[in-house]
Amino acid sequence: MRNCIRPVVIIFILSAFTLAQTNNLDALKKEALAKVDARQQLVQQMVDQIFSYGELGFQEVETSKYVTGILEKNGFKVQRGVAGIPTAWLATYGSGKPVIGFITDIDCIPRASQKPGVAYHDPIIDGAPGHGEGHNSGMAVNVTAALVLKELMIEHKIPGTLKVFPGVAEELLGTKAFLIRAGLFKDVDAVLGVHVADEFGTGYGQTFAPQGLVSVQYFFHGKAAHAAGAPWDGRSALDAVELMDTGWNFRREHLRLQQRSHYVIINGGDQPNVVPSEAGVWYYFRELDYPHILESYKLGDTMAQAASMMTGTTFTKKLVGSAWPPHFNKVIAEVQQKNIEAVGMPKWDAADQTLAKALQKELGKPEDGLKDKVEELKPPSPENEPGGSDDVGDISWVVPMVYLRYPANIPHTPGHSWADGIAMATPLAHKGSTAGAKVQALTALDLILLPETLQKAWAYYRDVQTKDLTYTPLIAPEDQPAIEMNREKMEKFRPEMRKYYYDSSKYHTYLEQLGIGYPTVKK
Ligand SMILES: [Zn+2]
Repeated sequence: MRNCIRPVVIIFILSAFTLAQTNNLDALKKEALAKVDARQQLVQQMVDQIFSYGELGFQEVETSKYVTGILEKNGFKVQRGVAGIPTAWLATYGSGKPVIGFITDIDCIPRASQKPGVAYHDPIIDGAPGHGEGHNSGMAVNVTAALVLKELMIEHKIPGTLKVFPGVAEELLGTKAFLIRAGLFKDVDAVLGVHVADEFGTGYGQTFAPQGLVSVQYFFHGKAAHAAGAPWDGRSALDAVELMDTGWNFRREHLRLQQRSHYVIINGGDQPNVVPSEAGVWYYFRELDYPHILESYKLGDTMAQAASMMTGTTFTKKLVGSAWPPHFNKVIAEVQQKNIEAVGMPKWDAADQTLAKALQKELGKPEDGLKDKVEELKPPSPENEPGGSDDVGDISWVVPMVYLRYPANIPHTPGHSWADGIAMATPLAHKGSTAGAKVQALTALDLILLPETLQKAWAYYRDVQTKDLTYTPLIAPEDQPAIEMNREKMEKFRPEMRKYYYDSSKYHTYLEQLGIGYPTVKK
């Protein structure tokens, strides 16, 4: 009989401990929500500031300086230029376990310059880059959450480490594999990523964009000659490009339906009377999993090899980007889902809805305005779901990760366009980013205060996700980040764009600085 008492006592002690912890967690969560609310001005300033920088992938100089400055001022230790990428960095606060990582993209879209709050195409600078994907709002979400967590950790003596990472050149799928290769996620226990959306939700498994890819440029090298006077002395690099493309297009018929591939000719020579000695073509090879992506990529190499043999040219190649299809952690996604439901949709007002409906009308889409309910937990996507690729996929294969979609944009926009920039420096984006920051803070608290959640997350990662497939990078050891990309484009527009950088010391909002009434719609 005496032996029976012991387990009962232990169970009692354990449940009392868990209860105390849970009570503590609830109280901390309330505090976190209040602290995020108290930082709404910071959210607004960050969203507006980064919007005004509008920097393309690998050229996020001002954005990185600005965000690391805020983190540093708030006691984070910043390591700049990580993984050989000048605009990448790692900001760390705290010590010991658990280590929670936050990541979100910072780059923008070519030719997407757009006046915020104006419900039709009206660029700030014609032809300039702009945040036509809404990546300007992600750091407002993650940095705000990180600052709130830091404050709670100090006030309540909570151990743990926060790491804030930038998604540099996400539009080129350009950096995540390199961040991993540099060992930046080695000690990280979980990664909470965020991406702007027109809805509030999360998911698990291979979700939202079932494809991964390799993005690679093939450069053919021939011999210049007078195209009429001595063509027999020339070897055309352009011929090689055309033969490679022709070969690929014939072979395409015999590839799996799941593959997607596309190319652009980036250099076709200079003028017709000179046999082109240099030519180049840029391919995306997309597939549903690592083995098929690799197969596709190798077939691309074969086509390039064959084309160079046919034309008497040689070729070199440059990897620009790569991405595993993401696989998000079911355990953390379920925890995050509860937090999304607890936070709920932002309270949209008449001006937000007017802007949304006016843009939807302009685009010829259903004029149903902004969403008023959060999404249900999204299960893995079917193979035929349309999607793109995102290089956070690589991170999701080295550490349990989730990807929060927070509601800071307008439904039915085409993506990667000026239309997607309209909401992104308005109250609509400010409210959506604040809501996103709340969920980030709450989910981090769940992971920090309930160690069994992290244990279960790792069990899912080990026993389910990576049971039959483990991470092998699509980059080769000799591949380096394509840090020279977009340099010329950015240099061309930056002097003019600089005149429109947001000055938060003079103006409450970017809309105020630009003199735009909110919303501005066609009469
Ligand atoms: Zn994106």
